[in-house]
Amino acid sequence: MKSWITYAEDSDFSIYNIPFGVFSIGDSAPRLASAIGDQLIDLRAVAKTGLFDSLNIDASVWDAPFLNDFIALGKETTNKVRLTLQKSLCDEGSMLKDNDSIFLDQSSVVMHLPVQIGDYTDFYSSIEHATNLGKLFRDPENALLPNWRHLPVGYHGRASSIIISGTNIHRPKGQQKPADSDPVFGPCKLLDFELEMGFIIGKDTPLGSNITTDKADDYIFGKVLFNDWSARDIQKWEYVPLGPFLGKNFASSVSPWVVTLEALAPFHVAGPEQTPSVLPYLQYEGERNIDINLQVIIQPEGGEENIVSESNFKYMYWNMAQQLAHHTVNGCNVKVGDMMASGTISGKDEKSYGSMLEISAAGKRSLTLKDGSERKFIKDQDTVIMRGYAQKNGMRVGFGEVKTKVLPAL
Ligand code: MN
Repeated sequence: MKSWITYAEDSDFSIYNIPFGVFSIGDSAPRLASAIGDQLIDLRAVAKTGLFDSLNIDASVWDAPFLNDFIALGKETTNKVRLTLQKSLCDEGSMLKDNDSIFLDQSSVVMHLPVQIGDYTDFYSSIEHATNLGKLFRDPENALLPNWRHLPVGYHGRASSIIISGTNIHRPKGQQKPADSDPVFGPCKLLDFELEMGFIIGKDTPLGSNITTDKADDYIFGKVLFNDWSARDIQKWEYVPLGPFLGKNFASSVSPWVVTLEALAPFHVAGPEQTPSVLPYLQYEGERNIDINLQVIIQPEGGEENIVSESNFKYMYWNMAQQLAHHTVNGCNVKVGDMMASGTISGKDEKSYGSMLEISAAGKRSLTLKDGSERKFIKDQDTVIMRGYAQKNGMRVGFGEVKTKVLPAL
């Protein structure tokens, strides 16, 4: 495939991608977009050319502040929108060509949260991450808890504090328990990122029904990069016995472009072998992991970017189909726009750990940055950036980035 739009060879937004997002420019209300290269494609302007006329889509869909109504049209329609756009961007006689109202520089717009998120669930599906944490906090010999290889462990998170890339956060405050004193209140001292990917639900289900692993892809619209911020000291004190709460719910950051499952189809690979074998409702067919290169960067105020982790989504022990099958096996319904996050994605070696907790071995090791400063956790004024892309046979499909700066506690 070759587009008449030119873009850099290493662009995340090649003709093979065609992601979806929400933007605004100047004082305009947010509306829907796609992207190619460094250009943003205004979907309302595309619809006005008549390109999508045969799909009978209500014009209000393009003017919505979130992708939810678009996603709710169903994959039969949204896939046609993506493929029609892709084809037109390759067609030399396209009616989109030389139409100045359609293309904008991505650098000239503001991107918004792509979906209105009803519910957010976070899994814990990287065996390397779960093992690292088990070794740090429990038993090095028996790092994984007995349930871990039998079900994709997860918890219900908080949707209200999921923020778009570019939104700064303040260091959270809360209770911490020093080893040698009573609990204290103050700014978190052990602020951390979690390198994750999120998937967005593409189809409602009725309460009482469940999604099987072989049908899961019909219910997943697409994926984003996901930085699941963590206040480790607050988390450590509060989490017993009900799990994550204020150490987790102050912010999670997402990338603006939703990359469809269809765009990621060429990059599927086999997942790790699961032993012992899983219960029938968690069994699956085919290659369900996806080869997506992931990177975490710390950029100190005014300083250079420092790559602190290079991991890959393909390492996940539990895949998205299994996560969704498990999430709904009890009859729990899902809704368009719900966000499901993978859990921290760590690989086998130290360079691929997905959190500072693992990189610093819970604060026992320091990372030296290019400017000579040291990090065990994230400091005020640091910007944390995550990037990700899949690449194969000359096709590149990427996510851009999710970027968040940490400001001092209020
Ligand atoms: Mn997490």
